[in-house]
Amino acid sequence: MSRIHLLTPRLANQIAAGEVVERPASVVKEILENSLDAGAGRIELDIEQGGVKLIRLRDDGQGIEKDDLPLALSRHATSKILNLDDLEAVESLGFRGEALASISSVSRLTLTSRTADQEAGWQVQTEGRDMVAEVSPAAHPQGSTVEVRDLFFNTPARRKFLKTEKTEFKHLEEVVKRLALSRFDVGFTLRHNQKVIHQLRPAISETEQERRISTLLSPAFIENAMKVDVSAEASGLRLWGWVALPTFSRSQADLQYFFVNGRIIRDKVVAHALRQAYQDVLYHGRHPAYVLYMELDPKLVDVNVHPTKHEVRFRETRLVHDFIFRTTHRVIADIRPEQGSEPAI
Ligand code: ADP
Ligand code: MG
Repeated sequence: MSRIHLLTPRLANQIAAGEVVERPASVVKEILENSLDAGAGRIELDIEQGGVKLIRLRDDGQGIEKDDLPLALSRHATSKILNLDDLEAVESLGFRGEALASISSVSRLTLTSRTADQEAGWQVQTEGRDMVAEVSPAAHPQGSTVEVRDLFFNTPARRKFLKTEKTEFKHLEEVVKRLALSRFDVGFTLRHNQKVIHQLRPAISETEQERRISTLLSPAFIENAMKVDVSAEASGLRLWGWVALPTFSRSQADLQYFFVNGRIIRDKVVAHALRQAYQDVLYHGRHPAYVLYMELDPKLVDVNVHPTKHEVRFRETRLVHDFIFRTTHRVIADIRPEQGSEPAI
């Protein structure tokens, strides 16, 4: 054993990157969330070779001040929380201040940005080096552009775990779908190797929202789904979205989207409540399909459970469970099919 020494910032970032940057899809998740946090109304993504060669995101969000640009790439640097109180009521998707530092430590990253009151844009570039980023002028409209090239070029062990271009793009597209479902009011464009894969205009009316779901998930789902929208005055909980008719059940749990305050989550309590709501109407081994949005006081949910923030902890588990169960069961029970009808694919 050798003596104890401090890790260099670069190595510390590369180790931390292991937690949040697993593949191109994780990069896309982090930078898309940053754009949404910055209030973007339009986001464009250009991808090359499944995201391994290039991920370029352009947004029209609030941008980053010139002097803050190097900080944006530093670890534990965030504009989103100041203290523990903020963390307990956090409404932004990010708050750990780690994503850009992690991504920049395992890629060639360029961040260009301009705020509304700046005359011109500014740019920082890193090449997986220690965090000394030079700021230089660059033409840019208001908003930010993040360019991530050659992911894992300096961490061959990680690069080895990447799958084919097609598989990596599939994962990446799933991330874009989830975020596009989480924010109907934002326009998204996704291009892969110069080909337009999705072009989604902001969807404000219910019809437009259903069209977006239909495009992203499946037209059959929306044709076979019921709209739900229930608010509980006392607890301040609201649940809205679409639940599929029992006749539109699936052989896999692959069409289940549940968002809590705009964040997609996977949660045992939620899954159980929904399984129970469908219990009497689904054949054994079949899975319900749903796209649901729950809104509640951010103080009643802890999102700081895991670095990827897919898990949450509800303060009032029972209340949340019963609310989801009651709200969806009421709709599903009403549309119970005739006994003996065959399940659809
Ligand atoms: P976090 O999102 O947890 O704060 P990140 O490393 O993802 O950490 O981003 C660091 C900071 O860089 C953010 O807090 C934000 O101030 C800024 N930032 C990153 N991306 C954008 C963007 N697209 N538009 C405006 N600001 C951004
Ligand atoms: Mg972030």
